[in-house]
Amino acid sequence: MTPTTLPTNPRVPEKSETQPAEAAKQPDTRGLNAWIEVSAEAYRHNLEFIRQRIGSSVELGAVVKANAYGHGLEQASRLALESGADSLCVHALDEALALRRAGHRCDVLIMGHVPLARLSEAVRENFRLVLFSIETAERLAHLAQDTGLRPRVHVKIETGTHRQGLEGEELSRLLDVLAAHPSLEVEGAYTHFADIEDTTDHAYARRQLRLFEEALETLRARGFEPSCRHAACSAASLLFPETHFDMVRVGISQYGFWSSKETRLTYQHEHAGGVSGAGHLDAAAAGPRPSLSFKARISQVKNIPAGASVGYGRTWQATRPTRLAVLPIGYADGYDRLLSNRAHVLVGGRRAPVRGRVCMNLTLIDVTDVPEARLEDEVVLIGRQGDREVRAEELAELAGTIPYEVVARLAPHLPRLIV
Ligand SMILES: *Cc1c(COP(=O)(O)O)cnc(C)c1O
Repeated sequence: MTPTTLPTNPRVPEKSETQPAEAAKQPDTRGLNAWIEVSAEAYRHNLEFIRQRIGSSVELGAVVKANAYGHGLEQASRLALESGADSLCVHALDEALALRRAGHRCDVLIMGHVPLARLSEAVRENFRLVLFSIETAERLAHLAQDTGLRPRVHVKIETGTHRQGLEGEELSRLLDVLAAHPSLEVEGAYTHFADIEDTTDHAYARRQLRLFEEALETLRARGFEPSCRHAACSAASLLFPETHFDMVRVGISQYGFWSSKETRLTYQHEHAGGVSGAGHLDAAAAGPRPSLSFKARISQVKNIPAGASVGYGRTWQATRPTRLAVLPIGYADGYDRLLSNRAHVLVGGRRAPVRGRVCMNLTLIDVTDVPEARLEDEVVLIGRQGDREVRAEELAELAGTIPYEVVARLAPHLPRLIV
């Protein structure tokens, strides 16, 4: 039962009249079993860091697809725009509509396919639309005719990722359609790199860049001079100024992660001047700082004897009298089942191991060495506690994936709080 002193809706903590202004800034989490905190300060630092790299004249498009990489679409978009992002990029129409509902009137690029039946909704909201199909172009031309509106399109150029995009003959046919329908505004043209973060050898990326420039030349020859040309994701934005063009599409680094170890190493190598005598990077050159923490409260503490097994499949057996704590989160909340018997969490300022299998909504941890652990104590699954830290990179390594997936899969039902 919820004590009556708690706010009735824990997602929107009430501000007590008597609370000092400083304390009021920290959300009240007493009524929450599990939640995500996003640090506004880290967020601002990351966007300032990116802005320093790209300069003031390049449009900073914050990529907020996948619920803003798990950080919360609404919360992260607000922080991004407050911290100097110029526009937003999403995958799907529904994400773009959610941004409008949240009150954002800024430019929004939809990077994924919009079902033909729903293009009118996108045009009505004046979204920027990726264009890589003749069918979409023709439908947009009809809509322009019917409504008098001018759809804005960004032509997606295939340069070697072989995902979305057009090249050669197909690109040429699309340009024929666009030439026949001046009611469509060819505002942008863009491409996406395939192999910029997985390697320190950037020959393939340079080749893609050259193909993109050739395609822009083809567009120019056909009379199209898009004012918004873009190619760079985070890694390209930080490493290669020649990829900046008119806009960058920055995802992961905005949230405080390097795209990869290779990206970090390449960056640090090239900014070796920023390394102080102590071998640390200067603050300005130090790079992104994680802004997300994933937290939960202990929902039960219990003692089990040596020899007892823990959880489904009995995959862990106590070798000594053991104190277990139950956490009210599991794989349905985005805590990967591959973390079973592998990951650590932070409790009482110490690292405590996960025991047994991660369940759908529950995870067991060993607090034998954290004797003060009590019901409803705060546990950190990702983030800092005291001077300890569990990074998304650490969980990614244990689960055989990348930090992108670890944060993107944090369940949308977890409340997101800006701190
Ligand atoms: C997701 C995505 C990005 C952002 O990539 P990061 O590595 O997170 O910066 C940019 N462009 C496109 C097309 C994307 O799909």
